[in-house]
Amino acid sequence: MSEFKYSRRYHGRIKAILLDWAGTTMDYGCYAPAVVFMEVYKRNGVNITIEQAREPMGAHKKVHIRKISQIPAVAAQWRDAHGRPCNEDDIEAMFKDFVPLQLACLAQYADLISGTIEMVDAFRKRGYKIGSTTGYTSEMMAILEVEAARRGYKPDSTVCAADVPAGRPEPWMCLENAKRLGVYPMESIVKIGDTLPDIAEGLNAGMWSIGLAKTGNEIGLTEAEIRALPAEEYRRKLDRAYERMWQSGAHYVVDGLADVMPCLDDIERRLACGERP
Ligand SMILES: [Mg+2]
Repeated sequence: MSEFKYSRRYHGRIKAILLDWAGTTMDYGCYAPAVVFMEVYKRNGVNITIEQAREPMGAHKKVHIRKISQIPAVAAQWRDAHGRPCNEDDIEAMFKDFVPLQLACLAQYADLISGTIEMVDAFRKRGYKIGSTTGYTSEMMAILEVEAARRGYKPDSTVCAADVPAGRPEPWMCLENAKRLGVYPMESIVKIGDTLPDIAEGLNAGMWSIGLAKTGNEIGLTEAEIRALPAEEYRRKLDRAYERMWQSGAHYVVDGLADVMPCLDDIERRLACGERP
């Protein structure tokens, strides 16, 4: 028996990029779901803040409604309004309310984040395939895919939580993309998204994960609103977003999709050395 064992390592290039939707490629500030969650709770006599509405962002929307109900301040408000805790029937009913409200306003929030088209073109020039995952339902994605295509963005694959056993942070949407794109190993794929569950799903799938701190749910403001912030407040919000994303295990954190090219160069360098995510 030899004293030496040899391990097999992938030394190739990146083969695919998996992009999130809201807050990553479209809907700067990830507003569409946040405003609808607020409305759904309001209809049940509970006024939640936009920060509470945003807290579980990235999860499947029904899971998201359940997680909002578990925020202590929201749970207390619910008990005041209803005289009992929020239960699973309430969550089902709110999800039923949520779906048509979200469908009705999605197209208003479908503008692409600047730089998306250019970056996707640049990925394709490098030979990367483009997949996507989302917390939206298939019905919602049907609308968004049409809106995105009208604006020039058409990924090669889109997987929703309903297509697999469970959504984020579980890795199945990423693995399903890999299958549909015909791409492996998982270390040749990079996940890019604007929420902590985005980062977790990439890590759980054995992929490289890049967090976007500025354009999505973490700051939760449009480009114009961010520009209007006092410098100190902007710095504080951005630092907090970076810190949360680093703490969740992202391999890289940048402001937005337009800033990822140096990360991809670095990942290719690390892959060439046999490094794994
Ligand atoms: Mg997002």
